[in-house]
Amino acid sequence: MIRIDIATLFPEMCEAVLGESIIGRARKKQLVEIHCHNIRDYSPDPKHHRVDDSPYGGGKGMVMQPEPIWQCYLDIVRQSGSRPYVIYMSPQGKTLTQQKALELRSVPHLLLLCGHYEGVDERIIEKIVDEELSIGDYVLTGGELAAMVVTDSVVRLCEGVLPAEECYQNESHMNGLLEYPQYTRPEEWEGMRVPEVLLSGHHANIEKWRAEQSLARTRIKRPDLLKDDK
Ligand code: SAM
Repeated sequence: MIRIDIATLFPEMCEAVLGESIIGRARKKQLVEIHCHNIRDYSPDPKHHRVDDSPYGGGKGMVMQPEPIWQCYLDIVRQSGSRPYVIYMSPQGKTLTQQKALELRSVPHLLLLCGHYEGVDERIIEKIVDEELSIGDYVLTGGELAAMVVTDSVVRLCEGVLPAEECYQNESHMNGLLEYPQYTRPEEWEGMRVPEVLLSGHHANIEKWRAEQSLARTRIKRPDLLKDDK
């Protein structure tokens, strides 16, 4: 079972997301273990629980200090008895892909470090971080939303979380293509009919149609995904 620890200044924000829907159910069924830690609890300042300070060299904003993050990390190692693979959520990291989510689901213990303000002191990155991951080329206020995206994309690929592997096997980005169009009842809605082939019960024809649609819509919506296609 995969264990994911999230180190953040806003654990309630993460718990609110991770207690719901498919991820919430997976946690209740003990298919995954997820723990959110408040970095502020590890501040060496007992009075104000300070975790940040102004940047050396000047400039606006605050930088998260290394010591509370280091103590949080050490506590996670103590609690779990293992050294986690540490990912710093950062706009400077490689962009998350479905392939990366597939790789991460096989890592037994992940720690997602969420920055805030101007980010974290560079020395904590040197000390504990194995990889930096971004969720896109834009800047968020904090790493929490990004950590939720990583957690969701990884957990739904873990064994038993979705009803069957088939649920994600044909999905967009699993094989470099986008998924075919989906329809449900009624057969006709607002004058628009479901394609006849889907009502035919002919499985081979349905598979063929879906494969063609998948390729066609990838060409239209995301031609960049086909750039190495012959
Ligand atoms: N000063 C930093 C820079 O320019 O690279 C950006 C800091 S950002 C305002 C605060 C935090 O949000 C970061 O430390 C990181 O944890 C998180 N963050 C922001 N954008 C992100 C993105 N695209 N992907 C992942 N995390 C992001």
